[in-house]
Amino acid sequence: MTGRGQASAGDLLELVRKGRATTRGALQEATGLSRATVGQRLDRLFRAGWLREGAGGPVDSPLGGRPSITLEFDDAHAVVLAADLDTRHARAAVLTLTGEILAEHGGTLAVEDGPDVVLGELGGWFAELLVKAGHRPDEVCGIGLAVPGPVDSETGRVVQPPIMPGWDGYDIRGRLARAFRERTDTDTGAGTGTGTAAAPTEVPVLVDNDANLMAYGEQRSGYPDCSAFVLVKVSTGIGAGVVVDGSIFRGVDGGAGDIGHIRVGADALCRCGSHGCLAAVASGGAVARRLAESGIPASSGSDVRDLLAAGHPAAAALAREAGRRVGDVLATVVTLLNPGVLMIAGDLAGTAFLTGVRELLYQRALPRSTARLDVVTSRLGERAGLVGAGALVVEHLYAPERAEERLLALGV
Ligand SMILES: [Zn+2]
Repeated sequence: MTGRGQASAGDLLELVRKGRATTRGALQEATGLSRATVGQRLDRLFRAGWLREGAGGPVDSPLGGRPSITLEFDDAHAVVLAADLDTRHARAAVLTLTGEILAEHGGTLAVEDGPDVVLGELGGWFAELLVKAGHRPDEVCGIGLAVPGPVDSETGRVVQPPIMPGWDGYDIRGRLARAFRERTDTDTGAGTGTGTAAAPTEVPVLVDNDANLMAYGEQRSGYPDCSAFVLVKVSTGIGAGVVVDGSIFRGVDGGAGDIGHIRVGADALCRCGSHGCLAAVASGGAVARRLAESGIPASSGSDVRDLLAAGHPAAAALAREAGRRVGDVLATVVTLLNPGVLMIAGDLAGTAFLTGVRELLYQRALPRSTARLDVVTSRLGERAGLVGAGALVVEHLYAPERAEERLLALGV
């Protein structure tokens, strides 16, 4: 926020959304604005449909005097679309602005088919999901996409992804926005009835790494007070997402957390072309390969997940060994970041893997780094990436500066 007495409507919205000031009096106090100016700013937010009076009725004012009406973010004025791509499977959803899933679909979609096909297909999924959720395409304020590779968040393009052939540098934002427009075009014309064919505004698309967005979704929904949160996704590959002080920590090139390709000194060939990567010996894919070698049919992380769920002893033994490999690397991660929560997610997340992680982690890391550390499994499960992708879009669009621009564009 800018100086005291200079808060914009966007700043006020931020205070209300984060629950830091939810009455007119509290907003005056927090910003130093006069009662009249707070009123003007709030009027703009009401006219945009972004704010509403709380259902709880008046509360006692912190300044004394008349009880105040509480204000809240109106999460029904738009919806968000989100999708989470895994190597062979994808999920997509329509969400409210506060992260509630209104309609959801999961299905087969192979990233190796390339971005044109995959994103075109996703456009169709979104169109169907909107119908299912009972919302119109023009109610969509943005799209968030989680991908299994490193992302340059400035451009929304993936950078040399080891397991996404054909996606390097591809214009994901442009293609997905176009796919969405093409698949929903017939609907947007209906009902407006003005006859003036306004050029369709391209819906904003935000792209980020899947482990980052899973971490973001899980931290916000389950551990909002944890200032250093690490999530490790162990599926076909291995990646970590780091959330520090409520924001995704990406590093200078979006490469933070890409722990799957740390060399751990084995000679197994990795999908990235190198030998001895952590992912080559401890991912769901690596465990599946070991199982297949001993005659147990498994070809992917999700096959291993099924075997673990069925209590298969060989799968559990290999998952625990993989956990130890990952735990060894995580000892360094934990020592560097001193997180409050280390969450294990993905196909291998379960008792056996967690046991292995804990064995090595507590053995290798300094006691001080792990004294207050919770090692846990995912709470949102397969929905974590969707929830994180939705939240990324909302935080981007309603951040104070962006909110101000959008209010002006709405003419309020
Ligand atoms: Zn590798």
